[in-house]
Amino acid sequence: MNLPTKMLAVRKEKAAPGVVLKEVPVPKPGKDEVLIKVKAASICGTDISIYDWTPWAEGHITPPVTIGHEVVGEIVEINSDDPQGLAVGDMISSETHIFCGRCYQCRIGNRHICENMQLFGIGRDGGFAEYAVVPVRTSWKNEPSIPLEWMSTQEPLGNAVNVVQTAVVMGKTVIVFGLGPTGLCAVAAAKAYGATKVIGINRGEFRRKLAQKMGADEVYDKLPEKYVDNMDVVIEMSGNADVIQDALRAARIAGTIIFFGIPKKEVTIDLGKYFINKELTAKSVFGRKIWQTWYQVKDLLVNKKVDLSKIITHRYKLAEFEKAMEAMKSGEAGKVLLTP
Ligand SMILES: [Zn+2]
Ligand SMILES: [Zn+2]
Repeated sequence: MNLPTKMLAVRKEKAAPGVVLKEVPVPKPGKDEVLIKVKAASICGTDISIYDWTPWAEGHITPPVTIGHEVVGEIVEINSDDPQGLAVGDMISSETHIFCGRCYQCRIGNRHICENMQLFGIGRDGGFAEYAVVPVRTSWKNEPSIPLEWMSTQEPLGNAVNVVQTAVVMGKTVIVFGLGPTGLCAVAAAKAYGATKVIGINRGEFRRKLAQKMGADEVYDKLPEKYVDNMDVVIEMSGNADVIQDALRAARIAGTIIFFGIPKKEVTIDLGKYFINKELTAKSVFGRKIWQTWYQVKDLLVNKKVDLSKIITHRYKLAEFEKAMEAMKSGEAGKVLLTP
């Protein structure tokens, strides 16, 4: 195939807020990597941090870099003697967490929390571009029956599935704090996995409405008094210090709380009140289990147990990135999609 030599990419060029859209050379796949023609990409909360240049971004990014990690694309070139079943023409999604495969965590089955992890579209060039290079080992071959737009939006659903599976929700009441895309997916995943009642909490009304579309039984702007000390499973997706206090209050005695949302600063928690007197079980989740979570996501999507089209609210061309980012930041969006 004749590939172009230049392509459009969203670049973080300087250690400062903002990004630039510019022409760069089409990358070449290194050893055990594939080149994909990007078909769709979606903007993540992480991309907002990168755009705004938060302390987190400063600690994780060395410009210049092409950003974007929630990506689906068609393989156009493979540079590997062992492509692990991948072929030119396959539609693959990228797993953001590029594991080393050799460290202690990788060797005991925890590749998603690899000690030497590289991040696609963060620590190395990503997929807000016309082409992208993805390692063979973090390429997920999609089931062709899944709609293309959903293929790029599997990361938030994967996070949500990992959270809900970690919590164990079958036959339990569940409350989700923070209804961004991952929170919305957590609502849908909790319903799909047999929670008896799912409640969503979010300040903005737009996302409360989306949560209802995703199957929430009840939604509120803040924790109602009747649900204090009442919920079997609490899912904290907001990362907001005040909301975290409400999440702890919502859990019933001996309930389970899962922390996923990353607070921007240190949060104080009353250990005696919640973890000793109330005997809560607290767990945290980081990303998706590789590849266990992806198989679970595939099952939900192929068998239409979760409908991601309900949370895809905006679509833009790659060249309209600034507009897409504006929509994403408005709080009046679910998932924002980019196409080349
Ligand atoms: Zn992401
Ligand atoms: Zn590793």
